[in-house]
Amino acid sequence: MSALVLDGKAVAQQTEAELRERVDALKARSDGKTPILATILVGDDPASATYVRMKGNACKRVGMESLAVELPSSTTTEQLLAKIDELNNNPDVHGILLQHPVPEQIDERACFDAIALEKDVDGVTCLGFGRMAMGEPAYGCATPQGIMRLLEHYQIEIEGKHAVVVGRSPILGKPMAMMLLQKNATVTICHSRTRDLPGLVAQADILVGAVGRPEFIKAEWVKPGAVVVDAGYHPGGVGDIELAPLVNKASAYTPVPGGVGPMTINTLIMQSVESGEKSLG
Ligand code: NAP
Repeated sequence: MSALVLDGKAVAQQTEAELRERVDALKARSDGKTPILATILVGDDPASATYVRMKGNACKRVGMESLAVELPSSTTTEQLLAKIDELNNNPDVHGILLQHPVPEQIDERACFDAIALEKDVDGVTCLGFGRMAMGEPAYGCATPQGIMRLLEHYQIEIEGKHAVVVGRSPILGKPMAMMLLQKNATVTICHSRTRDLPGLVAQADILVGAVGRPEFIKAEWVKPGAVVVDAGYHPGGVGDIELAPLVNKASAYTPVPGGVGPMTINTLIMQSVESGEKSLG
């Protein structure tokens, strides 16, 4: 039997139509004001520039504005903190996205944590992570939150399932594991020092690949009937999981591309609209 395709592109498009209506309604009741997402790009990494452009385009598609801040690769931590402070204090800005990664001389964690909680629509602050982990209101980190929304859309059962997350980065693996735990999965987190990764992957009812290495997780490790979520994207259109043989082995899977990626941007935009609604009324 062929697996259910968890079509992030389709879900994102459907949500964008709903967001457009929400932005229109907000404009109508706030003298034409729209939510504004400030994007900060530091340096000239072409992939980061592309991601920021895609996020700006997504804002346009739902009728909201974005404010593109571009800083040179020589930017210091202090200069970036000053820019974030300025955006925190700008009442017209409802969300702040600091594109990861920043040049290595910058203390990225300090800069993420300088973002005001109510404008942390990409879910990158320690405070937001802690609140999410405790079940308190906070914007979820965009990629794992997008994955949770996709699982919810397709009514994938999470409670009581064994979820195995491969990767423990602050913006993906760690928040992913906490979100699955919040939904009552039994969660195993794997990383570079994990022993017997194939044996642990084989236990997964829900598998999330967030390793950053092309097709690192092999299809033969995966249990028949597992739900497979691949957060990776690499040149040649492959992810972190060897997906092709899983099409007839998994019960559901996210395609690459068109699975997790569109949901990440969509979640950022959705949370920006929410922030705009809170602020503009
Ligand atoms: P990252 O910061 O490089 O983290 C990679 C994680 O994989 C680390 O926790 C690392 O463990 C673990 N790892 C590395 N080698 C391993 C091994 N041999 N066995 C088990 N675990 C291993 O990457 P990331 O930012 O989380 O991104 C992960 C993937 O998601 C990438 O492919 C990236 O392109 C993709 N991504 C996609 C989106 C999207 O919007 N679609 C957004 C962000 C990221 P240690 O902690 O022990 O080093």
